[in-house]
Amino acid sequence: MSSDFFTPVSGMDLPRFAGVPTFMRLPHIELADPRLAEVDIGLIGVPWDSGTTNRPGPRHGPRQLRDASTMIRAQNGATGVRPFERVNCADLGDVGPNPADIIDSMDRITAFYNTVLDAGVVPLTAGGDHLTSLPVLRSVARKGAVGMIHFDSHTDLFHSYFGGTMYTHGTPFRRAVEDGLLDPKRVVQIGIRGTAYDDEDIDFAKAEGIRIIRIEEFFARGIADVMGEAREIVGTGDTYVSYDIDFVDPTFAPGTGTPEVGGPNSFQALQVVRELEGVAIVGADMVEVSPPFDQAGGTAFLGVSVMFELLCVMAGVKAG
Ligand code: MN
Ligand code: MN
Repeated sequence: MSSDFFTPVSGMDLPRFAGVPTFMRLPHIELADPRLAEVDIGLIGVPWDSGTTNRPGPRHGPRQLRDASTMIRAQNGATGVRPFERVNCADLGDVGPNPADIIDSMDRITAFYNTVLDAGVVPLTAGGDHLTSLPVLRSVARKGAVGMIHFDSHTDLFHSYFGGTMYTHGTPFRRAVEDGLLDPKRVVQIGIRGTAYDDEDIDFAKAEGIRIIRIEEFFARGIADVMGEAREIVGTGDTYVSYDIDFVDPTFAPGTGTPEVGGPNSFQALQVVRELEGVAIVGADMVEVSPPFDQAGGTAFLGVSVMFELLCVMAGVKAG
């Protein structure tokens, strides 16, 4: 029955290095295309890094991730899942940001996602820096707060930067909690590590009931145990999954702006996503891939490999 679904171009028909790159070689369907109504999961690029406070570059992420994604085949080697035969997947293109205006960019992103959600499509985003998640959540959580499983070496829960700047890639989830987009008691942050300015973000998390699983606890307990707790925290309700590539050790993912050593390897980076099976995922993102710092291209390839794992579990949820 696979012919009922949008099918990626197979490397057996056209070599994977040939052709115009779309996410995972899927059809590109613009928002105005009537086929949008047939899409179950939409892969969307947000080439935007105006929230970056240190080394920039994620605005170039979607293009690099599309190119790297042509390496992805149709079947998951670990789980056997063939997501493109379970649900309809398509590349919905990029949101055009305004690189000179953060507020306008966020409004454009939310408007784009509102159209996507109105069509019944579950979004899988390629960022973009981590501020991207905020305007996406404004759409995904427009009918009520959602839970979140967040992989990152940082909490991104800071109040502000530079004496009062509220919108940076270090603040999206503080804003999301304040604005009622996230239910803090259904939020878990995994992989937190690195040097710190202070405990301001951690104190906020404690006060709100956000569960932080630092990397020391992650390695002491192991993936299955930690992810079991994560699934319990979010429960059966609607859940967003946000994946900052700097969750992964910079040995495996050097192409990012704010690397922190002492993190998971690339196998563990994939395995945590496989443990999301059954979570009611209403949207997910892969953010902070920065091609200018990704000299060998391995970070982008890991990024799209994580996106494929996300797509496999999301397809299971959508297919029911
Ligand atoms: Mn982040
Ligand atoms: Mn981070």
